[in-house]
Amino acid sequence: MNTNKIFFFSFFILLLTACNGGTGKTGMTLDTGVEKKIDSILSQMTLEEKVGQMAQFTIDLIGKGGNAYFSNEPFEVDPAMLDTVIGKYKVGSILNTSNNRARTTEVWENTIRTIQQRALQETGIPVIYGIDAIHGTTYTAGGVLFPQAIGMAATFNTGLMKEGSRITAYETRASNIPWTFAPTMDLGRDARWSRQWESYGEDAYLNAQMAVASTLGFQGEDRNNVGSQHVAACLKHYMGYGVPVSGKDRTPAVIPENDLREKYFEPFRASIEAGALSVMVNSGMINGVSTHADYRLLTQWLKEDLDFDGVIVTDWADVQNLLSRDRVAADYKEAVKKAINAGIDMVMEPYNLAFCPTLIQLVQEDQVPMKRIDDAVRRVLRLKYRLGLFDRPYWPREEYPDFGNSGNEEAAKAAADESITLLKNDNNILPLPPAARILVAGPNAHSMRTLNGGWSYSWQGEKVEEFAQDYNTIYEALQQKFGASNVRYEPGVTYKMDGQYFEENAPEIAKAVTAAGGADYIVLCLGENSYCETPGNLDELTLSENQTELALALQKTGKPLILVLNEGRPRLIRKIEPGAMAVVQTYLPGNFGGDALADILSGDVNPSGKLPYTYPKYEQGLITYDHKPSQNIDGKMEGAYDYGAQTSVQYPFGYGLSYTSFDYSNLRVSNTLFTAEDVFSVSVDVTNSGAREGKEAVLLFSSDLVASLSPDVRRLRAFEKISLKPGETRTVTFEMKGNELAFVNEQGHWVLEEGEFMLQAGNQTAGIRCTATKIWETPNK
Ligand code: BGC
Repeated sequence: MNTNKIFFFSFFILLLTACNGGTGKTGMTLDTGVEKKIDSILSQMTLEEKVGQMAQFTIDLIGKGGNAYFSNEPFEVDPAMLDTVIGKYKVGSILNTSNNRARTTEVWENTIRTIQQRALQETGIPVIYGIDAIHGTTYTAGGVLFPQAIGMAATFNTGLMKEGSRITAYETRASNIPWTFAPTMDLGRDARWSRQWESYGEDAYLNAQMAVASTLGFQGEDRNNVGSQHVAACLKHYMGYGVPVSGKDRTPAVIPENDLREKYFEPFRASIEAGALSVMVNSGMINGVSTHADYRLLTQWLKEDLDFDGVIVTDWADVQNLLSRDRVAADYKEAVKKAINAGIDMVMEPYNLAFCPTLIQLVQEDQVPMKRIDDAVRRVLRLKYRLGLFDRPYWPREEYPDFGNSGNEEAAKAAADESITLLKNDNNILPLPPAARILVAGPNAHSMRTLNGGWSYSWQGEKVEEFAQDYNTIYEALQQKFGASNVRYEPGVTYKMDGQYFEENAPEIAKAVTAAGGADYIVLCLGENSYCETPGNLDELTLSENQTELALALQKTGKPLILVLNEGRPRLIRKIEPGAMAVVQTYLPGNFGGDALADILSGDVNPSGKLPYTYPKYEQGLITYDHKPSQNIDGKMEGAYDYGAQTSVQYPFGYGLSYTSFDYSNLRVSNTLFTAEDVFSVSVDVTNSGAREGKEAVLLFSSDLVASLSPDVRRLRAFEKISLKPGETRTVTFEMKGNELAFVNEQGHWVLEEGEFMLQAGNQTAGIRCTATKIWETPNK
């Protein structure tokens, strides 16, 4: 099909819909005008064209250069490869950045214009370009980088999350890219996993709230007309990707069926109901079933049960992985057949052009029904319409004057301020006095790379220093705050910048110890170097030996030590924590992390982050806050046996201190008896009882005291971040519906059981009682 044909049909359909008068509905409603346009396009497409729309390849495949994995610099699209990829295979989507490095908006504009012009000439259908804009527009030089998702979760502030995603969408659009592979909403329930920092932490409710806020920030309010200021979100990785049994990335997970629906599926359900336009699939497997071949999870749970009308895209090379890694397909053809028949709409190949002829053959042999192909292509075309790509496949970057502006940067700084979490503050050692003489030590003290982590200008974050020179490391920010002459830097331990993330140079601990002699305080910045995905796997959760020894040696000096953590996952600090007067968790706070930390250490900002995960204390003590009673119980029984199973943690989920204090009082519930349908309100008074203004995330938990399946000890049900002046009291009220306290039973049904529940906020508790059991026969409540 060529451009003229498309133009004619578009015009015809425009007339039709103008006569009908009905387009542009929002919410889960389809745009009937667009659906008719798609009908007519589909009726004219060849099988080759249809299969092309289901394929996604990486940009280096079409770059001039030695091979598919590498392009020449400066990057240029190779017309011969375009002839193959777009001309011959009619490919509908491209992803990624060339040579794994951020590009200017100008390069993006030129590159994408070249691709689109060829696509329009060939098929009349624009290409959809997708990118990992993860904590800001990852792959565009000069864009704003926010804290990584784990820090955004620690803010417990969905407003900051939504605004961050809105800015990311704008700056990604300014790069001519309309689709981001975010939010990453895997439940980070295993401290060992290398992508824990990409998630919103361990809790399903927090993940759902943050992912919904992010989706709305990315897409705006009208999913049928995303518009020039927004991008399509891609919820990932659907689902259960974050809990591999071994703790290593892309290895199998074992998840009880009831947990799968109650915890892992819920954030996806909430985000799809909020309008998310695409979903990326979990690269691994759950209970032995490779998710990329899982008809039940892809087609039944998502497309049928939720009426999801968007696109399901694979993760990187995961159709190939069905044979080469999971061994559930004997050859590539069988792998393609399994994935497409399971419900995959677009395959992120990313290099193997054989995908197209293979799928064509499968259709010709009736091994993949044409109906399935039409469904997939319809979804892809729908996404392209929703993004306005048929009207404008590329656009001038000048239309985005606010790219990289200071307002965007202020939003990133505000998020970093609210993410940083004060975990210990003995004798109120913090904030530090203005004239403090400080030794700044540790491998994370003078590095923009460690502040940002992976997905920062490159996949593993190793090019950050090249792009982030204008921002302050922790050392630089402390110099600005406390005066250059008062702040000395002697790292003691450094990372090998060209090695693997865990490699360190020979330590120089004695130098740091000597330097401590001239200081009043030691700010010791420990943690991890940047990493991402499988290269971030680890064998031991404890902080590196060099770093541990550095901490112990500096503690021996007797100088008060402030331990600053800058890490993607909670590395064990049991041995060094007792010797630290204060502990501050920065997570991966982004380009403004140094400034935010300096503001907190000086007291210009009052910390308000809370842990979005349980900080473990022992290698064998990994646990989440929503565990079963028997996972942490003293278990004393009558007689000889002791069935205790105690797990002590370093810091609990939701923990975080402030420079002021908050008192909770008067927790009350509008009705203490309820059923599934009842709406009731829960209120608590929160008072700032200290001397400074401060922000407090008010968390409401529930406990089901007795249930037919052993209940979780606690579940987060609501939260709100408030700001209080000294002496001020605010009543925080949460509206709840009875059905929010339901769980999924052994038979896989949502159920709310008659009996006692406990609500808790701060140190306040209140009992309520469900008076009637309800079992849902539908898959979702
Ligand atoms: C990651 C995804 C990412 C994709 C495209 C994969 O390796 O697992 O999260 O979106 O690559 O870059």
